[in-house]
Amino acid sequence: MNRYDQLYINGQWTAPINGGRFDTIDPSDETLITQVAAATAEDVDAAVAAARNAFDNGPWPHLPGHERARVLRRIAALIRERQQALAELEVRDNGKPLPEALWDIGDTAGCFDYYAELAEKLDDQREQGIALADDRFTALARMEPIGVAGAIIPWNFPMLMAAWKVAPALAAGCTMVLKPSELTPLTALELARIADEAGLPAGVLNVVTGLGADAGAPLAEHPDVDKLAFTGSVPTGSRIMQAAARDIKNISLELGGKSPFVIFADSDLDAAVEWILFGIFWNQGEVCSATSRVLVERALYAPLLARLEQEARKITLGNGLEDGVLLGPLVNRGQYDKVLAAIERGREEGARLVCGGERPAHLDKGYYVQPTVFADVPEDSWIWNEEIFGPVVCVRPFDSEEEAVRSANRSRFGLGAAVMSRDLQRCERVARKFRAGIVWINCSQPTFTEAPWGGYKHSGIGRELGEWGLNNYLETKQITRYDSQQPWGWYIK
Ligand code: NAD
Repeated sequence: MNRYDQLYINGQWTAPINGGRFDTIDPSDETLITQVAAATAEDVDAAVAAARNAFDNGPWPHLPGHERARVLRRIAALIRERQQALAELEVRDNGKPLPEALWDIGDTAGCFDYYAELAEKLDDQREQGIALADDRFTALARMEPIGVAGAIIPWNFPMLMAAWKVAPALAAGCTMVLKPSELTPLTALELARIADEAGLPAGVLNVVTGLGADAGAPLAEHPDVDKLAFTGSVPTGSRIMQAAARDIKNISLELGGKSPFVIFADSDLDAAVEWILFGIFWNQGEVCSATSRVLVERALYAPLLARLEQEARKITLGNGLEDGVLLGPLVNRGQYDKVLAAIERGREEGARLVCGGERPAHLDKGYYVQPTVFADVPEDSWIWNEEIFGPVVCVRPFDSEEEAVRSANRSRFGLGAAVMSRDLQRCERVARKFRAGIVWINCSQPTFTEAPWGGYKHSGIGRELGEWGLNNYLETKQITRYDSQQPWGWYIK
């Protein structure tokens, strides 16, 4: 038995019913970290039954908000206490550089604190009177937890993506089953341990590790789950939506993106290059909102590309635990092969490779890909339009604001978009024209727990974070009372 080869169900650590295990690999050197429990439909049944029982018969949904907040704050404090160890575990499982993992874990704790505050406020805001035109009635709207939530998350920000769902669901009074990605399951199991230590009642949070088809699909299809919250790829999101349709489950989807970054010629060159780099090389480009399509006004195009190449070549690749590393390995062999194949396709499609495009010569083990810049990328090419989810940026010139906006919006995705110019009026105007859920002006990627997160078009349905994140886990009930002393007088006169 190791620390990670059991499931957390009903407040107990239990072996999967069929005894299955899968490997989790360190992407920096391709070695085995540990084996993890592989849940199947029977384990998912047990986890959902525990969550159902905790919701229908347990105290959690009915506790005053400040009592739920107390547990959430304890979870936040324990995460902060273990920030270094959790961040190192995240680096080993995912590959990201340690400073980024430390940032993620700090944000994870912050997310629990933030939703603790909203849980407290919910006590005052739970019931709101409604002004009715007919004064014989009084009515109110009351917010109640939606029930049992099933949360399925990806591998790029493992613990943070868990927090974005677990913290608001618990704040609302829901119970839940969390299924982390099979590529990065370890910090979700640590979160279960922390929740247990923080005094979360048994069955409120259940964590089942396992493969998508074996553990994720049975969770999505389970009739006792009231709400599905999913972050991941578009094809899986579509499958989850089909499963939800059968039982009319409430659903929120955070899916992929191919986010544009429009840079006008009056921009400061240093700032433009810095934010382009941050927009695509942070987290190895394995970021749903990465600004992977860059549109540069023609007068700045050549100098910007020269500077971008110069800076991209300086980025230090290596094991995320080493000092000074700014780009770690991709998460696994599959992602590495996918990114290298996309680069090859870009070459074949006639895009000009400015730098990168290969495995770094000095690293013979691990899933490393150089920071890669393509210029003159054809607008109808695969690499301009499809999500690569790696350190690959595509750049094109533009000649007018209208052309830039049209090209930016010419995508089936609509998650993020960014614009840079010294002319703030122009930035504000373009921001309002983007068909995207998250728009950055003069920056790219900073993310705030208080602000809504989610996409238009194929990038998803619904919003996480902020009050929108809490609303994902609330139902609205109307309570109407007949107050008149006059009989209704319809049948009985
Ligand atoms: P993925 O869809 O392959 O997997 C996501 C999760 O779904 C995993 O836990 C997986 O086990 C599970 N899963 C797989 N098949 C399933 C099935 N049939 N039924 C139920 N669950 C199943 O995605 P990924 O490769 O882990 O993540 C990368 C994708 O996530 C990218 O497209 C990225 O853009 C997106 N993403 C979006 C956001 C956002 O906020 N919009 C954030 C992070 C990642």
